[in-house]
Parts: sequence; C-alpha cells; structure tokens
Amino acid sequence: ALPVCLAPVNMITQFSMQYLLGAESYKSIKELMDSAYVEQWQGKRVLEAMRGEVEFRNVSFAYDKEKEHRTIRNFSTVIRPGEHVAFVGPSGSGKSTMVSLMLGFYAPIDGEILVDGVPQSELAIREFRQECAIVMQDNLLLSGTILDNIRFGRPLATEEEVREAAQHASALEFIEELPEGFQTKVGERGVSLSGGQRQRIAIARALLRNPKILILDEATSALDYESEKSVQAAIDYLAKGRTTITIAHRLSTIRSADRIIVLRAGECISEGSWDELAEQEGAFKDLLDAQK
Ligand code: ADP
Ligand code: MG
Repeated sequence: ALPVCLAPVNMITQFSMQYLLGAESYKSIKELMDSAYVEQWQGKRVLEAMRGEVEFRNVSFAYDKEKEHRTIRNFSTVIRPGEHVAFVGPSGSGKSTMVSLMLGFYAPIDGEILVDGVPQSELAIREFRQECAIVMQDNLLLSGTILDNIRFGRPLATEEEVREAAQHASALEFIEELPEGFQTKVGERGVSLSGGQRQRIAIARALLRNPKILILDEATSALDYESEKSVQAAIDYLAKGRTTITIAHRLSTIRSADRIIVLRAGECISEGSWDELAEQEGAFKDLLDAQK
C-alpha cells in the first residue's frame, strides 16, 4: 500500500482526518480511489448497544468491475460477540480483503455481511466503524505530540485516561523516558519511534477508543523478538472481552485464538481451533511445518 505521507496533501484533507484514524485508516489512499470502493452507503441504522457479532453470509467479492476474478468466493461464517477469530493463509489469499469488506469499504458482489443480524447496507456505516479499531503492521503517527496521537482514539479523553491507556499498552515506560514525555513531538518533525513503540501507541489509541470489534492485521509481524513480546502482552489486554479478528502470517501470534480460518485463493479450506487443525493433515499443518 502507498504510504499516506506520499499522497498529495489535498487528497488527505479531502478525505478528512477521519481516514487516517481508527478503522478509517485501514484504507490506503490508493484503495480509496479504486472503482470498487463504496462511496456512499445509504444505511441509517445505528446499533445502540452493539454486541459485536459479524456474519458473512455466502459472500463473494471481486475488485475488478467485470467481476471476473473473485478475490473472495462464497465465504460464510458467524463471528460471535467476544470471539477471537484468526485468518491465516498465504499472501494474496484474501485476508485483508475480508477486513475491508467487514468495515464496508467494499460491498460484496454476492451474499451479505450482517452486524448483530443487521445487513451492512442498512447500517450507518460511520457509526459502525466508530465501534471498530484496527492495529496494523505499519501504524501511522500524525505530526503532533504523543498525547495527541493517543487521544485520537477518543478526542474527549482526559490526560489521566490517556496515561492509563498508555500504561495498559506497555507504552508508559518509554514515553516517560522521552525528553518531554507525553508532550514529545512525533511524526514528520518530531522524534522518530521504533516500530514496536509506534505499535504500542496504536494499541493505546485503540484502548482509548474502547471498540466492540478489534482488528489486528499482521500487527506484530514487523517487530523484533523483544518488542513482539511486549506488544503481544498489550494486544492480549486490548483483545479481552471484544470480538477480535486477527490476520497473521506468523502463526505464533494466534495460539490463543478461539477459531482459525484457513484461506486459500479467497476460500475457506479448513477451520477449527489450533489443536484441532494442528492434528490433522492439511493446509494448516503445512503452514505450521513451514514455520518450524
Ligand atoms: P492477503 O491480505 O491475504 O495478503 P489481500 O486481501 O490483500 O490478501 O489480497 C487478495 C487479492 O486481492 C490479491 O490477489 C491482491 O492482489 C488483490 N487485491 C488486494 N487489494 C486490491 C485492490 N485494492 N485492488 C485490486 N486488487 C487487490
Ligand atoms: Mg494482507
């Protein structure tokens, strides 16, 4: 994906800061310009007390207008409130596309996605996205202070709440060692943080947002072993009690998932708990063996 910093500035303002944050940041500017991207959802329904159930019902999807190449093929599953589901599979198998579909950046060409039983097309999509948070491999920091960056998760949060989120994200320690603590400037003209530090800022931001649905897309794959451990601990804390969808290359990060869905070329080829899948011959065991 094109780093957002390379996109023309007017594009960024045009799509508003919203796109750089939380669930909205999932779209790269490049993808926003895609033809298949859904410009306008007409739904108005706001789920007052969202439970966080997501159902894919016979979903197929193609990026190309002619719908010749199906990236997702007839995929069905129900992700229960609070469940932790992991998608695994080779690069290009459709894992990130599943997330884009779930967030309504694209609409299925067949089938539908339901949130708490409500078809996505009836949902007020922005309000729905407010209930979701994403931590990605490469987490963008905005020019501004660390405090600003975490607070983007919830602009009205107090400093005490920001601090608490940082602490649970295993970020407080390194923040306090910075010359100006939470007031330290990061981003273009500020201090540069390591991948693991940016990751923990993103986790603190997500914690502050307190989402019903948490999405982790390759969230720990760029880290060295030490930061991976502290980031993983922060993620485990963040995921507690929420519907969590993890996309992973490295299988070690999904050991604790309730259910693993193995994708190949946009299709679910097997599904089960880690122990179930590890026992049987098949795609998951092949992946496991390949990573040993
Ligand atoms: P994964 O996350 O499993 O690596 P993706 O969901 O990113 O897979 O991609 C699945 C397939 O869709 C790949 O063939 C990829 O090239 C294609 N694809 C992904 N994003 C786009 C896009 N914005 N436009 C066209 N094709 C895309
Ligand atoms: Mg991906």
